[in-house]
Parts: sequence; C-alpha cells; structure tokens
Amino acid sequence: MHLAVTTMQIDLHTLYFLLVGTLLTGAAMMLWERMAQPFRATELGFWASGSVIFTAGAIMAMNRFSLPGITGLAAANILFVLGYLTWLHGVRLLDGPVGGVRWYAALLLALALLWAVAGVHFPAAFWNHVAALPIAAICGLTALVTYRCRALRRLRSRPLAVAIPAGHALFYCARAFVVPPLAAAYGPDILSVVAKITMYEAVLYSIAVPMTFVSLVREEAQDRLRAAARTDYLTGLSNRHGFFEQGEFMLAARGTDAPVSLLAFDLDHFKAINDRHGHATGDAVIRLFATVVRDLIRDVEVPDPVVARLGGEEFAALLPGRGLAEARRIGEAVAARFAETSVEGIRATVSVGLAEARPGRSDLGQLLANADRALYRAKALGRNRVEVAGPAAA
Ligand code: GH3
Ligand code: MG
Ligand code: MG
Repeated sequence: MHLAVTTMQIDLHTLYFLLVGTLLTGAAMMLWERMAQPFRATELGFWASGSVIFTAGAIMAMNRFSLPGITGLAAANILFVLGYLTWLHGVRLLDGPVGGVRWYAALLLALALLWAVAGVHFPAAFWNHVAALPIAAICGLTALVTYRCRALRRLRSRPLAVAIPAGHALFYCARAFVVPPLAAAYGPDILSVVAKITMYEAVLYSIAVPMTFVSLVREEAQDRLRAAARTDYLTGLSNRHGFFEQGEFMLAARGTDAPVSLLAFDLDHFKAINDRHGHATGDAVIRLFATVVRDLIRDVEVPDPVVARLGGEEFAALLPGRGLAEARRIGEAVAARFAETSVEGIRATVSVGLAEARPGRSDLGQLLANADRALYRAKALGRNRVEVAGPAAA
C-alpha cells in the first residue's frame, strides 16, 4: 500500500484542480435543482453556497504559500470550516428556521485567534492535525442533525446522508489523532501520503454530498406528490385512491376476529343546495361535513380510522375495532351533528349506510357496495338517517 500510494501518478496540485471542478459542478447541480424545488430553495441555496466557499478554500489552499507567513494556511482552513458550517446550516434548516449564526461566528473567530496565537509557531502541526478537529466536529454534528431530522425520517437516502458526513468526521479524527503517532513512528514521509489520501477523499466527498442533498430533496418532493395524490384537495380528507389504499392495508393488517365497520355517507338533496345557493356555497357545505365527520370520529377515539371523500358529496369512513352497534351510534351522531350545524345559514342533512366486514373477509369493494345498498335504503326511507346492511348481504 505504501508503494502504491507514494508512486500514485497523480500529484496534489492535480487533485486540487479536480476538487475545484467537482465542487463547482456540485454547486451548479444544486442551483439547478433549486429552480425546480421551491420548498427547499433556501436549503439548496445554502448547500450551493457551501460548495462555492469550499472552492474558494481549495484555491486558497493551492496557493497557501504565496501569502505571507501562515495567512494562507489560516485563510484556507477558515474558509473550509465556513463551508462545512454552511452545509450544516442548510441541513439544520430542513426542520424549520434555526439560529446559531453567532455560534458559527464565535467558532470562526476562535479558530482565527488560535492560528494567530499558536498556529504561527507550529504551522505544519496546525495544518496537518489541529485544523482537522473543527472539521471532524462539524461533520459529526451534521451527521447527528441529519439523523435526528424529522423531515428526512422516512426517506430512502437518509442512511447515506448520515453515513457520509459521519465517515468524513472519522477520517478527520484520524488525521488529528492517528496520523501524528504514525508520523512519529515512520517518519514525516507518511504526511505526503496522507495529504494525497486526504485530497482524494475530498474529491469523493465533494461529489457524494451534493448528490445526497439532491436525492433527499427529490425524494421529499416525491413523497409530497404521493401524499397529494391520495388527498382530496377540497376537504383535506383522503380521496378515493387513498381510501382504497389505506383501507385495504388496514383490512389486511387487522386480526381475523377484530370487527371492522364501514359507514357510507351521501348528502341529501345536494343538487338543490347547489342550484339555490351556488356551487361555492355547495363546496362550503362539503367542507363543513368533512369537519363534522373528522371531529366526531376523533372525539369517539376510533383507532386509525380511514375517512375519505369518495367523490362529489359522497364520503366513507372505515372504522377498525368497531362492530355494528358502535358504528351505528357513530353514524347517528354524525348525522345529528351535521343536521344541527350550518354554514352561511344553510343547513343540510346526510343519509348513512352501514355495513360490517365478515370475520376473516376483507374485500373493501364488497364492503363498500354493501354499505351503499343500505345507503340507498336510507334515501328511500326519507333521508337523514342510518340504515344497516342486512347480515345476508354482508
Ligand atoms: P340525494 O338526496 O338523492 O342524494 O340528492 P342529491 O341532490 O344529493 O343527488 P345527487 O347525488 O345526484 O347529486 C349530487 C350533486 O352534487 C350533483 C353535483 O352537482 C354536486 N356536486 C358534485 N361534486 C360537487 C362539488 O365538488 N362541489 C359542489 N358544490 N357540488 C358538487
Ligand atoms: Mg350522490
Ligand atoms: Mg346526494
């Protein structure tokens, strides 16, 4: 390994040039993504800025000996730390607005002071080992913040987004604590090998991090789209698609003898409400009904109910753990509360059909058809009432 790395036909300067290229490519990728992701424009802006700051740091590091004394070393190190802080800040913003800018400023100031006071006397030790410490700390923190981030909790890229900065932090810990004893034991030649490995790792890191950031933002946007595809825009309840998806999942997951009931709702004489008061008022009545069902089912504490607007003025509620008698009480309570609530001075009523799933059977389509038959009977018997599907039909 000693041979392979020391004879590596690539010099530090080439690696620095490569790093500048990969950093700027990463920044461009994130800025391009930013235009398509308004929800994460701020975060992507910080991450792209971080990459640009790293670029400045890399250019400064390449030319560190053309500035007097330790100025070049200190400036490059401080720019790198600022870059890591900027990436960290972007990650912290994922869960909402955060402060901490004063801490960042204090850290950068302390680092500058340390360079001015002690770095001047041991520039090589500072550049090779001490400078790695704040970087290890910030990357460790970035991994921790990523791990705890609520917005990223269910994303597929999350383990990568944690592991990549964590690995980088470990690498920089090794630079601070493992390399000095190695250099003492095997001579300073080892430092040039470490420098090449460091730059090689930096090139990989500068590609891996923006790729991960872009993946996270895209996966999050995809999740948001998927949720929107299952949600009814007018009421915020599930739509038909969401009802069948969640309902079938729930039915498959239930214990074989746990009861499950389904209430089907259809607002009464709704066409007349639209005709008399206009479509917008009709929409307000639909929203009002959605609020009534949602609140009532929450009040009676049904565990994991699936409540949906199936279309128009038709709704359904799947009630796990509730048999016919309890579900009937819930249906009657919904009808009663809706009948006594008004919006824009308009009162409406609802007819309800109820069916219970047979033990061991879990055909949601059949269950809904049974509840619908009972619903038509409720309409025929005068509306504003609950009818139960006969056991033979269920
Ligand atoms: P019934 O008591 O028999 O249910 O009478 P109905 O008038 O409610 O009958 P029907 O189910 O045929 O009418 C539903 C009406 O709901 C027809 C349609 O104009 C209206 N509608 C469907 N979707 C919407 C919507 O999103 N907003 C509004 N305002 N009206 C809608
Ligand atoms: Mg209808
Ligand atoms: Mg109707």
